[in-house]
Amino acid sequence: MQTRAALLAHCRDRLGAMRREGRYREFAQLEKLAGRFPVYRWHSAAGPREVTVWSSNDYLGMGNHPAVLEAAGRAVAEHGAGAGGTRNISGTSPLHAALEAELAALHGKSGALLFGSGYIANDAAISAVLEALPGFWVFSDAKNHASMIAGMRHAKGATRVIWQHNDLADLEAKLAAAPAGVPKLIAFESVYSMDGDIAPIGAICDLAERHGAITYLDEVHAVGLYGAGGGGISERDGVAARVDLIEGTLAKGFGVFGGYVAGEAELVDFIRSTAGGLIFTTSLPPAVAAAALASVRALRGDAARREALAERAAALKAALDAAGLPRIPGPSHIVPVMVGEAALCREVARRLLEEHGLYATPINYPTVPRGTERLRLCATPFHTDAMIGELVRALRAVLPQRLSAAAA
Ligand code: PMP
Repeated sequence: MQTRAALLAHCRDRLGAMRREGRYREFAQLEKLAGRFPVYRWHSAAGPREVTVWSSNDYLGMGNHPAVLEAAGRAVAEHGAGAGGTRNISGTSPLHAALEAELAALHGKSGALLFGSGYIANDAAISAVLEALPGFWVFSDAKNHASMIAGMRHAKGATRVIWQHNDLADLEAKLAAAPAGVPKLIAFESVYSMDGDIAPIGAICDLAERHGAITYLDEVHAVGLYGAGGGGISERDGVAARVDLIEGTLAKGFGVFGGYVAGEAELVDFIRSTAGGLIFTTSLPPAVAAAALASVRALRGDAARREALAERAAALKAALDAAGLPRIPGPSHIVPVMVGEAALCREVARRLLEEHGLYATPINYPTVPRGTERLRLCATPFHTDAMIGELVRALRAVLPQRLSAAAA
């Protein structure tokens, strides 16, 4: 009884503090409308209403691609809804095997392994690798995603060193300061999800080679989107062969669900045989594997869709800049608009939705540092010029003058 009362009092205090800081999480109920992406139906307190979504991670609209929908529907009809077991216990179908082969080919690797999500892939694969050799040191970019950090924390016996974001000199100094002879892993991302900047993968691989380290690259925000065949920034930069493990998601550029790692077959086989996050959980539903396979196959040959995304992202950035709106400059499709205060950020997002029918997620602490709260915008190939114009006018109406003035 005492424990329950103490726990509930703690929950009430924390939630109250979050509300006062404007960080309390409320999930808008948004219904995807097949064939109308990025228009969704928002279920507000006042009833349903159509809105334009500016914060979807279905970056290329593959979640509505006809081949993906057809594959999902057919697989449900033929194989039912759930996998019914872990990979080991009747949960591996030919679809899972074909998807792994397709992902290995996407990255030019000899092996790939599916996980329940990109989060689980990072947590499970990083911890499995770090526990493989005694005394591993892991060098983690300061802006790495929570799922990578979880994997590093879960690895017993590993030492974690954080290097400044995308700072090669700092990484080099920290690699050089590690004890001689310890096994080393450099963990980083290609496109960083909240700032939209891109890592110098080749230069990081140079440092890894010089210091005898292996590399683990999260390409969650790049797979499907970049590279001639959608293999991510490592493909675009011609360095995929130099990265030991490439981790990706099937849920963003590919528009479906699930995560994976790709690398040398023996290393992937070791992760398959040791990672708790793979062994002790039900495998992806066959329809998810079928839809993801259709998506990967379609996107590998669809450079036009990638070019359309790049063109739309450039159009969005140009329109924001022309209007003097406070954008964090960056080379990717992720376009953050800086607000800088949690409560204001939420209020701006609320007004965009309620007054203008535009959905843009407010990003607050702990996802980004306090004082850098922002709206994270992503154009897709399906956002029209008219939608961009509508967004810019609405942002000018709801953002305080001082923020626009500072950027202009
Ligand atoms: N890595 C990064 C960098 C991410 O941003 C995310 C999710 N936002 C993940 C991994 C997890 O991917 P998933 O959504 O497939 O779990």
